[in-house]
Amino acid sequence: MSATPPSDRGPTGGSGRRLRQLAELPVSVLNGVGSAAERDLAELGIDTVLDLLTHYPRRYIDGTRLVPIAELAEGEKATVLADVVRVSRPPAGYGRGRRRTPSRVEVEIDDGTGRLKVVFFNQAWRAKQLPVGTLALFYGPIGSYRGALQMGSPTVEVLRGSDDEAEPADGARSGRVFPVYPLSDRANLTSARISRFAREALDRAGELDDPLPSSWRQRLALVDRTTAFDHIHRPTSMGQREPARRRLAFDELFRLQLALVLRQHRLAEDAQGIRHVVTRADGEPTLVDLFVGRLPFTLTGAQLAAIASISEDLGGALPMHRLLQGDVGSGKTVVAVAAMLVAVEGGHQGALMAPTEVLAEQHATEVRSLLEGLSVPDHGTLEGRRPLRVALLTSKTAAAERAIIYSGLADGTVDILIGTHALLTDQVGFRSLGAVVIDEQHRFGVEQRAALRAKGRGEDGAGRDPDLLVMTATPIPRTAAMVVFGDLDMTVIDEMPPGRLPITTSWLRSPLEVEEAWSRVRLEVAAGHRAFVVCPLVEGSDRVQASSAIAEAERLAEAELSGLAVGLLHGQMRAADKEAAMADFRSGRLDVLVATTVIEVGVDVPEATVMVIEDADRFGIAQLHQLRGRVGRAGDPAWCFLLSENDAPEAAARLSAMERTGDGFELADVDLELRGEGTILGARQKGSSDLKAAKLLSDQDLVVKARAVAVDLVAEDPGLAGHGSLVDELRIFIDENEAEFLFKS
Ligand code: ADP
Ligand code: MG
Repeated sequence: MSATPPSDRGPTGGSGRRLRQLAELPVSVLNGVGSAAERDLAELGIDTVLDLLTHYPRRYIDGTRLVPIAELAEGEKATVLADVVRVSRPPAGYGRGRRRTPSRVEVEIDDGTGRLKVVFFNQAWRAKQLPVGTLALFYGPIGSYRGALQMGSPTVEVLRGSDDEAEPADGARSGRVFPVYPLSDRANLTSARISRFAREALDRAGELDDPLPSSWRQRLALVDRTTAFDHIHRPTSMGQREPARRRLAFDELFRLQLALVLRQHRLAEDAQGIRHVVTRADGEPTLVDLFVGRLPFTLTGAQLAAIASISEDLGGALPMHRLLQGDVGSGKTVVAVAAMLVAVEGGHQGALMAPTEVLAEQHATEVRSLLEGLSVPDHGTLEGRRPLRVALLTSKTAAAERAIIYSGLADGTVDILIGTHALLTDQVGFRSLGAVVIDEQHRFGVEQRAALRAKGRGEDGAGRDPDLLVMTATPIPRTAAMVVFGDLDMTVIDEMPPGRLPITTSWLRSPLEVEEAWSRVRLEVAAGHRAFVVCPLVEGSDRVQASSAIAEAERLAEAELSGLAVGLLHGQMRAADKEAAMADFRSGRLDVLVATTVIEVGVDVPEATVMVIEDADRFGIAQLHQLRGRVGRAGDPAWCFLLSENDAPEAAARLSAMERTGDGFELADVDLELRGEGTILGARQKGSSDLKAAKLLSDQDLVVKARAVAVDLVAEDPGLAGHGSLVDELRIFIDENEAEFLFKS
C-alpha cells in the first residue's frame, strides 16, 4: 500500500480489494509499523495486512460507560480511563508470625476529574507495565482504605504506552468503543497500537471486494465485507460488533465448507468406484445375511438402518464416503463388519484400521469369532470354497508372518485385513481392495484416510477406489461433524442395544469417599466380575507414565486391593506381554487390570463391571465417556468411579456432567460448550485454525447456512468458473496440494 497512494485500490478486477491483495502486503507498508513493531507483530503471527485485519479483538471496552474518578462510589465495579501519574512499590514487609506480606504495586491515576489509587498485589510486573505517562483503562472494584477510595487489582488495558508517539488523548476520551486485542507477553505491543495499525490498514485498503453478491447477503442477513472489517476493528457502538463478527464467521465457515464440498465433488468426479454385490442374483443368502443370521443377538433398528444405507452406497457406482457416528457401545463394529463382507461377497477385500495395537488385536479377535465358519468361493479347491480369512497386521507382526500376509493380500486369499498404521506401509498391496473402515477416526488425519483409500488403486493406479466408512469413537456434535467431516455423508446410530443398564457414575472427592470405589471393586470381584483401574496421567514421557502405572499397580495390590489378582497394562509393555495381560483379564485369571489409557478405546471384556478412574479431572469428557464405556457391556449392573479432589469450575462441570448423563451425544454438546471448538477440531483439519471469528457452539446456524450455500454453489458451478474471486480467496487458506486437487482444470 505504501507503493500506491491511499486512494488507489490497485488492480482489483472487480470492485474493491481482494483478500489476496491484502495477504501479499507485509505489515511494514503501514506508516506506523517500523522494524521493531514488525518484529513484535510477527510474535503474534501477524506478517501481512490480512493477518492484521484478521487479528480480531478478543473483547471491547465500552468507552461510552466510563465513570469519571470524581463520580466513583464505593462498592461498585467501574471502568476508569486515566493517566498514570505516580508509581510506587512499598517494600514488602513481614506481618504477624513473620509471614511475608504480599508484594504491592501502587499506582496513582488521574483522569482530569480527580485522582485514584490503584493497588496490585503480587503483580510486581505492573510497575513496568504502567510507568508514569501511560494511558490505560482500569476496570475493577472500588473500595476504600483509611477514608480514601481505591481500586483493587483491576483488569488493565493500556491504550497508550508512556513512550508511544502521543495519540491525542482527547480522541481516546471521546467515549468510543475500545477494542482489546489478543497480545503476547513477548510482544511489546499494546491494544491501542494494534488498533491504530488496524485503523490505518482499513483506511488505506478502502472498499473490499465482496465475494458474496448482495442478493445472497440479503438472504443470509449478513453485512457486507467492508462494513464487517470496519465494525470489528472500530465499532462506534457495542451493537455493531456482533453483525460484523457474524459476517466474518460466515466467511470462515463458508471457505471451509466450500473446500470440503469441492473435495467431495472432485473425489466423485475422479472416482473409479466398484458396484458391490448387495443382493445375489441367484437369491441365495449373501455373506451379510449369513453373518447377521448367526449373531448371538438381533440387530437394533438403528444398526439395520445403518447397514441399509451403507449397502445402498456400496451398490452404487460412486465410492462411499460415509461417517458412522454412534455412542460408545451402540454396536458400530458389527456394522463395519457387514460393510467389509459386502466387498468380500464380490471377491474383493476389506480393511479395518484402528488407532492402537490393543484395539486392532481385539478387533481381529472379535471379527474372527464373528466370522467363524463363513466361507468364500475358491475355484482352486475341490469343494470350491475355502474359509473366509482374516489377518492381523501391526508393527509388532513378526517378519515371517508379515510375508505370508503380504502374499495373501496380493493373491486375494486374505479377505479382511485388520491392523494399525502398519496398513499404510508400502509393502501392503491388495489384489482388490473393496471396502475400507477406519475406526476411531479422531486419531487419524485426513491424509491417512486418503493413503489407505489409495491402496485400492494400487501402485500402477490401475485399480479402483474402495468404499470408505469412517467411525467415531464417541459422538461429536452435528455442527462440529459438519466442519471436521464435511466431506463425508453421515449416518448416526441413535439407539443402544436393549438391556443395557445405566452405569452408576460417582465423582468421589475425598479419601473417605474413595473407599467406596475399592469396596465396590472387592464386592464385584467376589461376584465373579472384573474391574479396571485407570492410572493417573503423568506428565512427561510414556516411560514416566508407565513407571507410575507400575507403582500404582504394586501399591493397590498391597493395600486397597490386597488379596485380588492385580494385573498391569501400559504402552511400554512388549506386545506379547500386553496380549498376555489382556488375555488373563479376559479369562478371569486377573481380577483387576491397572492400566494407562491404552484401554481407552474399544476394549471389550463383558465381565468388567467396575471402572475406577484416578485423577479423573485430568481427562476430557470424551475420554472419560470412552473409558466408562468399557464396563457394563453385558447387561450387568456397572459402576464408574471418578476420583478427583479438584473442584475447580471447569473440572467440576466435566465430572458432574459425567455423573448426570450417560448419553454420549449430550456429553458431546457439554464438551463443546466447555472447551470451545479448538480442541474438538484439533490440528487435524486443515483450515480449522482459520476459525478465528466463528464459534461452533453459538454459530451452528451459520455452519448449516454455509454448508447449504457451498453445496448449492458447487452443484451449480462445479469448477467455480464464475467465482474467480472466491477461488482466489480459498487458495489463501488451503495448502498447495489441496488447492491443486480442488482446482486442477
Ligand atoms: P461401539 O459402537 O462402541 O464400537 P461395539 O461394536 O464394540 O460398540 O459393541 C459393543 C458390544 O455390544 C459388543 O460386545 C457387541 O457384541 C454388542 N452388540 C452389538 N450390537 C448388539 C445388539 N444389537 N444387541 C446386543 N449386543 C450388541
Ligand atoms: Mg468400537
